[in-house]
Amino acid sequence: MASTLENDARERAIAKHHTKTGISSLYCRLCDEPISETRRKLLVTDLCVDCATIEEKRNRI
Ligand SMILES: [Zn+2]
Repeated sequence: MASTLENDARERAIAKHHTKTGISSLYCRLCDEPISETRRKLLVTDLCVDCATIEEKRNRI
């Protein structure tokens, strides 16, 4: 059980590190939901579709 959680945390840490190097994150920065592979290939992002939409609206205001 514990090791599964550790692996999960490590994967997320790696995903977050990848964001800085220009590779899309596996998990959303805001809600921690997995980002679809299609979306990650389409653009470099660390946000899921829902959060990206919210951020977009926020940036326009
Ligand atoms: Zn999200």
